[in-house]
Amino acid sequence: MRFSLLFLFVSVLALNAACSQKRDVAANSAHPARTAAGKTYFQPKPLTGKPDEFPVRKTDAEWHKILTPAQYYILREDGTERPFSNKLYNNHVAGSYYCAADHNLLFTSDTKFDSGTGWPSFFAPATDNSVKVDSDTSFGMSRDEIVCAKCGGHLGHVFDDGPAPTHQRYCMDGDALVFENKK
Ligand SMILES: [Zn+2]
Repeated sequence: MRFSLLFLFVSVLALNAACSQKRDVAANSAHPARTAAGKTYFQPKPLTGKPDEFPVRKTDAEWHKILTPAQYYILREDGTERPFSNKLYNNHVAGSYYCAADHNLLFTSDTKFDSGTGWPSFFAPATDNSVKVDSDTSFGMSRDEIVCAKCGGHLGHVFDDGPAPTHQRYCMDGDALVFENKK
């Protein structure tokens, strides 16, 4: 999960820099789950590092079979899509955002906001079991990585410059998400 190709270093570094203007300190329990206007907003749990941490586990060959190359690049190779490249950044339709690998509910349109970054952005995960957080020190930067709580797939990063009530910005890769309209 944590390898990267050297020839991608420069472009990925540029993208990551654009998505990491501010280091998140929120994931270290500065922002616990909170209730605002009758809604509870969840703080992702940190990774435990245990081998059975993620209930959805597949071999690399199996992931290749069920994911598109773009999805595989984000979810299984910790990739970052080009900003404004996935249309979900500009999706304002009411509905839910699921993990492209296992259909785990990650985010809802209720917490989506326009961050201006070109990546789909949210201020809170949908449930207590949507995502987990890990410290990411790749490319010489320290950021908090967000992964799917069920399959461990890389989704993006979280920063503490988001809007109220949580002031968090979950900067997600649209290629890792599947959107479904509210029914
Ligand atoms: Zn998943």
